[in-house]
Amino acid sequence: MNRLWVRLTLALVAITLVSVVIVAVLANVTATTQFGQLVRRQDAIAQTQLIEDLAAHYQTNDNWNGVDEILQAAKSASSPFGTNNRPRPQRPGGGPNGVRGPITYLLADADGRIVVDDQRHRVGQMLPSDERGVALPIQIEDKTVGYLVANSPEQELLLEARQLFLSQLQRNLVFAALIASVIAVVIGALISRAIVSPLAQLAQAARAFSARQWNTRTQPNGTQEIDDVAHAFNNMAESLQQAEVNRRNLTADIAHELRTPLSVIQGNLRAMLDDVYPLERSEIANVYDETRLLSRLVEDLRELALAEAGQIELKPQAIDVSRLLQSTADQFAIAADARSINLTVQPPGPLPAVSADGDRAGQVLRNLINNALRHTPEGGRVTLMAELNPAHVRLSVRDTGEGIAPEDLPLVFDRFYRSDKSRARLSGGTGLGLAIAKTLVEAMGGRIGVESRVGQGSTFWFTLPVVR
Ligand code: ADP
Repeated sequence: MNRLWVRLTLALVAITLVSVVIVAVLANVTATTQFGQLVRRQDAIAQTQLIEDLAAHYQTNDNWNGVDEILQAAKSASSPFGTNNRPRPQRPGGGPNGVRGPITYLLADADGRIVVDDQRHRVGQMLPSDERGVALPIQIEDKTVGYLVANSPEQELLLEARQLFLSQLQRNLVFAALIASVIAVVIGALISRAIVSPLAQLAQAARAFSARQWNTRTQPNGTQEIDDVAHAFNNMAESLQQAEVNRRNLTADIAHELRTPLSVIQGNLRAMLDDVYPLERSEIANVYDETRLLSRLVEDLRELALAEAGQIELKPQAIDVSRLLQSTADQFAIAADARSINLTVQPPGPLPAVSADGDRAGQVLRNLINNALRHTPEGGRVTLMAELNPAHVRLSVRDTGEGIAPEDLPLVFDRFYRSDKSRARLSGGTGLGLAIAKTLVEAMGGRIGVESRVGQGSTFWFTLPVVR
């Protein structure tokens, strides 16, 4: 019962049966009314002359006395069945002479009281409503003076024909319902198979995927809706597989990053214990530097994990970009002087305030300035700039340093990416700074990017949304 094909088949069979019942009811009603109308129309045509005679009689006598003679005359004028004993179709306007076979009459006065009854001797009784419904009114100048009910064998035959037609129709409809139900079962099974088989494939793929077969994908080959589900499944599988690859890479990267300082610390300490290195302050200072690098690495990792999980609490406020540039540049004045680097802020002109977390925006800017100073040789220049894009302010840090090779440009924001591994590590870089900056900027509704030419310098920029 819970299977799709059973439900679909039942639904189709139910629709078929309901349609058949509706057709049967409509056919019944239509046949009954049409046959009734046909009989009445035929009566009206056949009795035109008689009704005129009856009306004339009433007009002359002002009552129905002696009307029997007129009815008897009309009866005897009607001829019996033909030689083959079957009624012939009535010709329109044929009058009483056109009626085939013995006919019986019933006449009622204007109140419906029976005056003449050929068949059942009900004179004096009221005309029952069913007979009044089929009675022909006798009128003199729009005033009804009586009712005539004519019962001819043709009517009986028509009623029999109607019955025959209806029972024949009912038999055919039952037969049609049976055939339609069989077809519904077959179609239900075919349609449900077409729907179910891609669903079964999808379920199979989902099971394989949950069993860690990351390459599993499903082939969209069903209806539009099921294909959409298959595409959604494939997209989900793609991103989960990517996430799994990232997770493995990250674990490997972290292990790799931790191994170098740890083995340096371990080696140096071992050498001191074995008296290979003298137990001097400078040696201990080397070990200490490595531990500082380790703790920076752990701190950066923690920060990146929080930022990527959206768990760093940002407090957006209106920030004056010119002031942010100037105050951050001031923090690096001594470091820049020490390396004879010309660190300046290019006055940006009037700018709207941006909406950002002041501390985090400062952190991103500091990271970019720090990198620029580290990658710019003595005597170089580092310039801070800001300009207005329609809805954002773009802050840039331009240096005249070594630049970045075009093939490295798309990678610099990846975690642990360092274009020169050994040198960057020696200078204390964890390879996480730009990855953290990117996550923070995006969390504040901005974008980050870089343009660079080897040997000429780099421009790192990020945008922050203007306060509305
Ligand atoms: P790190 O801590 O190693 O500096 P970052 O994520 O800040 O890590 O930077 C990643 C890499 O991008 C750096 O190792 C360096 O190769 C490159 N890089 C960053 N800033 C600059 C710059 N101003 N000029 C040249 N290369 C840069």
